[in-house]
Amino acid sequence: MERLVIATGNEGKVREFKEILKGWTVTSMKEEGLAAEVEETGTTFEENARIKAIALAERLKAAGIYAIAIADDSGMEVDAFGGGPGVYSARYLGEKTPYEEKNRIILEKLRGVPEERRGARYVCAIVAVWPEGKIRAAQASCDGRIAQESTGSGGFGYDPIFYVPEFSKSMAELTPEEKNKISHRGKALEKMMEILEEEIVN
Ligand code: IMP
Repeated sequence: MERLVIATGNEGKVREFKEILKGWTVTSMKEEGLAAEVEETGTTFEENARIKAIALAERLKAAGIYAIAIADDSGMEVDAFGGGPGVYSARYLGEKTPYEEKNRIILEKLRGVPEERRGARYVCAIVAVWPEGKIRAAQASCDGRIAQESTGSGGFGYDPIFYVPEFSKSMAELTPEEKNKISHRGKALEKMMEILEEEIVN
């Protein structure tokens, strides 16, 4: 089976999944006409990804769609915020607040904090649920720090303030290919792709 449905309404994420999972038929829940809302009640990225993937698998089954349900849960952990916002990244400072505003507030909170205490990482957990009920998970992270200012217009979310030392640029200044190569989601997806291929063989 080479059909995958992604449990997210986030266009930025859908784009990244499609770019990385070339060779697979990838659609989003929205494209399948399925509702995206599931309450993320977990306290870890993997728990939330599992909740979303299982909910999607149930909806696919009910709709008669034979596909692997894939969900990710990701977020940004900031050392100076004790690892927050973490699993609450999307809800942090208000779900509807534009990221331009959220990023401005974060930079303000960290004004005067030296480089060595601006550490941050993106984390991504991905869970796949097969129609028969099998569940597999993968997780990866990407280290960086909170920049002094917002730069770049690529990516989404916190990318303009997430500085990637490897490139001496913000995540939003990287090309999609560069971001996919080093990002938490890119790396977790590579791991998941290996799992998917392994499952085809077995
Ligand atoms: P999720 O949709 O519950 O996984 O929430 C993910 C949230 O984490 C997003 O809404 C962003 O706030 C943040 N996030 C995750 N990955 C990225 C990324 O690659 N760039 C920027 N922000 C991200």
